[in-house]
Amino acid sequence: MKKRKSLEEYKSGILKGDRSSLAQAITLVESTLEEDRKLGSQLVQELLPKTGNSIRVGITGVPGVGKSTFIESFGMFLLNSGRHVAVLAIDPSSQKGKGSILGDKTRMEQLASDHRAFIRPSPSGNSLGGVSTKTREAMLLCEAAGFDTILIETVGVGQSETAVKNMVDFFLLLMLSGAGDELQGIKKGIMEMADGLVINKADGENVKASKLARQHYLQALHLFPPNENNWYPKVELVSSTERTGMEEIWKMIKAFEESTKSNGFWSKTRANQRFKWFEESVHHMLFEEFSKNEGVRKLLKEHENEVASGKISPQWLAQRALESFLNN
Ligand code: GDP
Repeated sequence: MKKRKSLEEYKSGILKGDRSSLAQAITLVESTLEEDRKLGSQLVQELLPKTGNSIRVGITGVPGVGKSTFIESFGMFLLNSGRHVAVLAIDPSSQKGKGSILGDKTRMEQLASDHRAFIRPSPSGNSLGGVSTKTREAMLLCEAAGFDTILIETVGVGQSETAVKNMVDFFLLLMLSGAGDELQGIKKGIMEMADGLVINKADGENVKASKLARQHYLQALHLFPPNENNWYPKVELVSSTERTGMEEIWKMIKAFEESTKSNGFWSKTRANQRFKWFEESVHHMLFEEFSKNEGVRKLLKEHENEVASGKISPQWLAQRALESFLNN
């Protein structure tokens, strides 16, 4: 068995920007062993004063829209502009054995082999709550290790967007032109969350359609109520394969930073996110304890068939289980 480092060793390694200490520390916060997780949380707590000095960007879009290709191009652009880039992912589908986004690093070959970048595939887990807590802790560890730009990728098809929105400063939605008005399977709610829309694959014969799509989305965004932070979402065109438009995306993010820092919403949003994280952690931890509880397990086993067949109300069983949990 591999020996665990001491808290001090992890800490000094991370503060020196040592990749392998960072990777091992993330493994701790992702671990299913309670001992590891405790050490991981303590490490995050101790490193907290060294976190927060980054721009956190969420990136979403349906499979095939070009997220990996975009992150590869945008990541390289950022590295070459002197930024320190870490890429993380939240992918609830990986729980179902479909393989994790970023799992296959060949999709970001150049970025993955560049020693200046740090790429971490999506953690596995049996609940989105658990997975997002791990990603948040990984993000803070990356910041303590000196990364000033954190890109968090997620698939634009489920609840994971809300999880990512709740942990980033800026939320980017990747779209395609020419896919009609049905918003390509992207729910309106996700569009509403976006601080910036990126129309990808604006190259070759697609350029004209992409420009039209830009007008279309600008109009669609106009119909949404204004954001309380006074930011009007922008729409930009890029080609991730030809690597055009990357600077515009960065300018948009920087403009957002400047605007929300000057009106106080940058720190207000982060403060709200911390409370949200606290709440989610409580939910998650309570549910874990609840699920492990002997009395609860016994009750569930006794009544699972009746719940499944509709003979007893799930609500009734939940109440009984909760009483048993609280009395044990
Ligand atoms: P993801 O599933 O959203 O991560 O999408 P990928 O990054 O794997 O890209 C899906 C496909 O679209 C790949 O075949 C890419 O080469 C292609 N693609 C991605 N970006 C562009 C682009 O800007 N222009 C063109 N023409 N193709 C692209």
